Formats: sequence, C-alpha cells, structure tokens
Amino acid sequence: MAYDDQNIFAKIIAGELPCHKVYEDDHSFAFLDIMPRTAGHTLVLPRTAAENILDIDAESLAHLMATVRKLAPKIVKAMDADGFILQQFNGAAAGQTVFHLHVHILPRKEGGRLKHHGSEDNMADEKDLEAVAARIRAEIDA
Ligand code: 5GP
Repeated sequence: MAYDDQNIFAKIIAGELPCHKVYEDDHSFAFLDIMPRTAGHTLVLPRTAAENILDIDAESLAHLMATVRKLAPKIVKAMDADGFILQQFNGAAAGQTVFHLHVHILPRKEGGRLKHHGSEDNMADEKDLEAVAARIRAEIDA
C-alpha cells in the first residue's frame, strides 16, 4: 500500500487537525492518543512520510526511537507510573489503524488496568487529555 498523505496523523503533524501535543523536534512529533489504553498513552511519530517500520530509512528510525527513549521516562514520571509498554503495529492484520508509523508509549501502574486497543469506549474527555498533556509537557521541560 502506498503512503496516503491525507491520513489523520499526517494532517496532525501538518497542523491541519488538532491534537494534544507533548513534544516535537526536527524529526519527531508526539501527542496523546484520543482513546488512551492507560492514562498518559502517547504516540510518537516520525515527521517523515512512512507507513510502517519497513517503510522508513534506518537513520529516521533511529531518530524516532531516540525520541521514544527520551520521552518514555518523562511520561512515566509525569503519570506517577511504575513502568511502560512500547507497542507498534504494522499492517491492518496486526492491528494498525492509522497508516503513518507511530510508537505507542503506555505508562503502567502496578495493578492498573490496560484497556483495549483502539476501542471507542476509551474515548477521552478533551479536558482530561489537556490536563495530562500539560503534566507531561511540564516534566519534559523540567
Ligand atoms: P494503530 O492501531 O494504528 O497502532 O493506532 C492508532 C491509534 O491512534 C489508536 O490507539 C487510536 O486510539 C489513535 N487515534 C485514532 N484516531 C486518532 C486521532 O484523531 N487523534 C489521536 N490523537 N489519536 C487517534
């Protein structure tokens, strides 16, 4: 499948659709998932147009993972979590629903619930998302 430059995440990176942004740099962009599986569920994207992990050059992938490595501990701290899961889906059969490469960071608390992936039952309240994004941004800027 060819990269579709009208996908939701391409539009978010371009500023054509809103998001609760937590971080951006020359290579990457990170914002909250609107259907969080845990509080603080963050998506980290490369700016470059890539559908999945097989569709990105090694250098851009390294930049993306460096951002994941930088943000994960900040998100864990901001959310008072105890650990985190990284998830990354390739292809519809694997559960990918938005076809711009992204890494999920899911902070986990001991005994905390992990909700279903991509379930509309998880749709978050805008105010809650903005409060979480503010906590994460403050930790990144600290
Ligand atoms: P995938 O299944 O492709 O790995 O994950 C796509 C993720 O994007 C899902 O976790 C879903 O909740 C999230 N998502 C879908 N549409 C939007 C949107 O418009 N804005 C944001 N922030 N997240 C979205």
